Amino acid sequence: MFADGHCDYLYKLDNKEVAVATIPNLISSKIILQNFAIFVEPQKNLSIATNKVLRQVMLFQRNVVNANNVIQLKYSNQLKNIKHYLNNKMLAILALEGCDTILPDNNLFDILWDNGTRIFGLTWNKDNHFATSCTTITNEGLSLAGKEFINHLIKKNGIIDASHLSERSFWDIVNLENKPALIASHSNCAKICNHIRNISNEQIKAIIKMQGVIGINFVPMFLNNSARDASIMDVIKHIDLILELGGEDNIAIGSDYDGARLIKELENPEKLYLLKDRLAKIYSKELVDKITHLNWIQFMIKNLPEDNSPENN
Ligand SMILES: [Zn+2]
Repeated sequence: MFADGHCDYLYKLDNKEVAVATIPNLISSKIILQNFAIFVEPQKNLSIATNKVLRQVMLFQRNVVNANNVIQLKYSNQLKNIKHYLNNKMLAILALEGCDTILPDNNLFDILWDNGTRIFGLTWNKDNHFATSCTTITNEGLSLAGKEFINHLIKKNGIIDASHLSERSFWDIVNLENKPALIASHSNCAKICNHIRNISNEQIKAIIKMQGVIGINFVPMFLNNSARDASIMDVIKHIDLILELGGEDNIAIGSDYDGARLIKELENPEKLYLLKDRLAKIYSKELVDKITHLNWIQFMIKNLPEDNSPENN
């Protein structure tokens, strides 16, 4: 079984491009929990961007939630008796990658929240009104609006994704008095591969201390410095380092299916078993289960809001 912290299937669907993270493909590959990102490239025309966000919410409801054997994950209670219903089924959670379109006066957050969006990456690769991104050329980090947004999200039991943030924004969040649930859904170790999208050992340790999750990404240029292809052994190097830093309960998968060109050995969810086979040769079964799916599941049990309506109890 697998749980995956990031894919861009909705973007591919929205742009009518061929995708690998299709629902039958994910389910037959034994993925029991998949994070689906809403992603719209940052643009000046906010109403066009907002329409695209809403269209991807609709595509998620129509093509993912309505598909056979998919259950939308919105509440922690849904995970209480996970073993009873996960046979050949998949939980799907909705995320927003880049909050450029969320403004105080446009109700978009409420629409997204009510549609089950639970994970919010404040920025993609461009600075916005909430925070600076990993490509920033400024010394600024989290803005006042960003801080207020995080406080609102903490009240709702939402999750902050640090994957595309600048280091300054990251530390501004970690140093908040009132700390959110924090993940890096699809980022690797900068110590091994020095790329702006990767995170330092200190950042990894901070996420571990906050009981967050780090999803290892399968994009070659985030895995080794050659930027051509990489191998499963490169993926394992990143996993090893996070384990060395004390991340046994925090290390997970964040593939980036349909978001970029991935390493050949893991280019399709159908090949995930190859990673598991390799992990099983090195680590105990208990640890392999944590890496492949349990750490994401445990994190969601601890951090998603509870629903008190009878159907989820
Ligand atoms: Zn991304």
